[in-house]
Formats: sequence, structure tokens, C-alpha cells
Amino acid sequence: MEKGMYFLDQKDMPTHWYNIMADMPGDMPPLLHPGTGKPATVDDAAGLFSRACAEQELNTKDRWIEIPEELMEVYRTWRPTVLHRAYRLEKALDTPAKIFYKYEGTSQAGSHKPNTATAQAYYAKKQGLKGLCTETGAGQWGSALSMGTRFFDIECKVFMVRISFDQKPYRRILMETYGANCVPSPSTETKSGRAMLEKWPDCPGSLGLAISEAIEYMIDHPEYKYSIGSVANHVLLHQTIIGEECRKQMEMADAYPDIIVGNIGGGSNFAGQFFPWIRDKISGEKPDMRIICCEPESCPSVTKGLYEYDFGDSVGLTPLIKMYTLGHGFIPPPIHAGGLRYHGMAPTICHLHRLGFVEAVALPQTAVFEAGVKFARIEGILSGPEPCHNVKVAMDEALKCREAGESKTILIAHSGHGHFDLAAYDAYLTGKLQDYAYPEEEVKKAQLELPKVG
Ligand SMILES: *Cc1c(COP(=O)(O)O)cnc(C)c1O
Repeated sequence: MEKGMYFLDQKDMPTHWYNIMADMPGDMPPLLHPGTGKPATVDDAAGLFSRACAEQELNTKDRWIEIPEELMEVYRTWRPTVLHRAYRLEKALDTPAKIFYKYEGTSQAGSHKPNTATAQAYYAKKQGLKGLCTETGAGQWGSALSMGTRFFDIECKVFMVRISFDQKPYRRILMETYGANCVPSPSTETKSGRAMLEKWPDCPGSLGLAISEAIEYMIDHPEYKYSIGSVANHVLLHQTIIGEECRKQMEMADAYPDIIVGNIGGGSNFAGQFFPWIRDKISGEKPDMRIICCEPESCPSVTKGLYEYDFGDSVGLTPLIKMYTLGHGFIPPPIHAGGLRYHGMAPTICHLHRLGFVEAVALPQTAVFEAGVKFARIEGILSGPEPCHNVKVAMDEALKCREAGESKTILIAHSGHGHFDLAAYDAYLTGKLQDYAYPEEEVKKAQLELPKVG
């Protein structure tokens, strides 16, 4: 009998994160200071993040960065995560393909996000900070950081996009259970929030605005730093523990992926899985390996965005980032249920896409939930809406293998469970979930507001 699960012993856990910036091909455009337009320095970044994270953000020299032992102790409360061989799915699809998935849903907060949340909390504590502030959409990131800051005994302030705050109370309750202070954004606590409320009292909020509020809060509270859940280099770095573990587990399974599929919101979970593999493609050792980034049709940054410098937030307080962007003022349609709602994308992933190392596809949400329901019925796991995107694409690729009679190895980066997303499943199961055409006019309007650079 072949194994269905690959467990890595805790003593064999990777001890270092992989910093792809040391191996990055081509000239990746730098982050720019929003005021001067000059390349951002470590001091600039340390105005926003803890100093250790600021140094990691701009580190292009060290390929390997050691995970501090105190943090390893925390990682060991849920890591290593398991690599599954999806025999039941292969059988159901009647495919010769081998399908694997590395599942991050077994962390305490239910996703990959604690990999960086605990790291950022650790560095903040070490620096003697009083707390971290952040934004959250549906609440995955906010709950991960609430847990991380609790583990390291510092405070946590979360600005939560108002529509989620009102409609999805469970993640907020989880954050408060961990001891965080969570307010709806726009809030009355910041200038950006108050300005928006004056203009638009019922504003549903957006991730971009919540980021602006969190940064403003940090500026007003010097004993706090800002913490971000995706997009930034140091965040993607912390997530590479996933792929480094997975390389060892695939070796145990005597397998190597031909295709790796992942979902991208800001890009952190997928980068965490594929960065450790793509170095074999960059080095020329595995030129044919395919890396497929999956995003929603209603928020299609990589497939439809412009590759331009833009802000990470809606007010313009973050560094300027060269990335595929729908415009920092873009707000995805409320009808969209599948997560992954950010207007931009990790600049590293954008750069690798420009160079042809990774592909991207955009998917309509009914097909995404259909795949999620199938996966739940076959594998038993109720996936978050985000990983349903790449589960769908993995299934399609496995069916292509059946047509072609090819036995490819497909690796799914599975970012987390959907136990707090049952309302979206309900909408799908009762036929209320609709596809939403790409909001072209909204995007065009938002892209008119891109900052002028150079
Ligand atoms: C936040 C989240 C994502 C999207 O964020 P990335 O930074 O792109 O990984 C995907 N899946 C889950 C389960 C999440 O919580």
C-alpha cells in the first residue's frame, strides 16, 4: 500500500527560510519612497515595519535566513503540516496524474497566515514594541496576527473592512477571543477613516482603506509598528517554510511536481510553496515545470492589471510598488464571495510572471465553488474559497492528463479551510451565487488614478 499522507518529523523541519531575492533573475524594479520617489532604504522600511522585517524586506544578498529558535518553538505547535496524496480525487477523476496537496488548514487559525504572523510578532517583541496594527478583510489575517501577538505577549489593533465586520462576525469574535482590539474600517479613529465617513457614511470599506487606517494608527502610536499579511518580500520569505518542508516530503514520496497550482490574493501562500521549487527552474534544471497562479475573474490583478508603480493602500502611505495593479482605489464588487480581493500583487510574483517563469489564470466564482464542493465530497476537506480556485485548476489539469494519457505530478498549494466561509457555500448550494463579469469600467476608472513616477 502506498502512503496517503507524508509526515515530516519535527526534528527534520527546515531551519531556514529561502530568500528568493538572492536568486532573482533580471532587474526587479525597487520599492520607491512615496514622498521622494527614490528607492526605499532599510530606514524607510523600518519606519513602517519592525527593524528585522525591514532588513529582510530589502535583503537581496542572503539566500538563507535562519528561523530564530524561539520562533521555531512556536512553529512546532502546528508544523510541519502534512503533505497528502489525493488518491480518492485521482480515482474520482479517473486520471493517470498523481495529485498531491500540502494543507495549511491545520494551523490554529486555519490557514498559512500564522507562518508570518508569529514571525512578525516575535520580531516586534524582540524590538520592545508595545504592539502591532494591521488591516484585515474577511478576518483570516487579523485572526492569525491576533494569535501571533498573543503568543509573544504584545498588543494587536485590527482595522477590519466594514462589510465583513458587519456580515461575518465569527472571525471578529475569534480575534477578540485572542485579545485583539478590532474596529470596523472606515473608523472614526483616523483621519482617512473620518474623511471617508464624511463623504460616504455607509462606505463598505476596502482593504486599501483599512491599510491606510492601520498605517495612520501606527504613525499616531510610536510604540506600535505596522504589520502586513501579504505582498511584502519579508512576508513571502516567512511563508517559504511551506515549500521547504514540501520539498522534503515530495522526496519521501519519491516524486517531483510537473505542475504547481496555487491561489494568489497578495501572493504569500503560493509564493511560500513555489519559491523553493522555482529555483530549479531559474537554474535551468527544471525548465518545463509549470507554475500556475489562480485568481478570481472579478479581481484579476495579474491577468488584467497594468504593470505600473502603484500604492499598496488607497490613501498613498505605503511605498510605491511596481506590480500588476487594478488601481489602488479599486473595490471589488460586493457580489464576489471568493476572497483574493486585493488590487495589486506581490512584486516578486509580478516580476517572475513578466519573465515568463509563472503563468496566471482567472476563474469565475461558480466554477470555483463547484470544485470546492467536489473536493469536500471526495477528500473531506472544506476548503477556503481561495484554495477552491487552484483545486479547480488542478482538477482541469488532471482531466487533461486523462485525455492525453499522461501521468503528470500535480502539486496543489492548499492554503486553508473554509469553516468561517459557510455562508458563501450556502449561497452556492442554494443557487444564489452568480458569476460577475470582469468590472472593466471600474478598473479603468481606478487606473486613471495611478501615481506619476519618474
Ligand atoms: C489570506 C488567504 C489567501 C490569500 O492571501 P495570499 O497572500 O495570496 O496567500 C489565500 N488563502 C487563504 C486560506 C487565506 O487566508
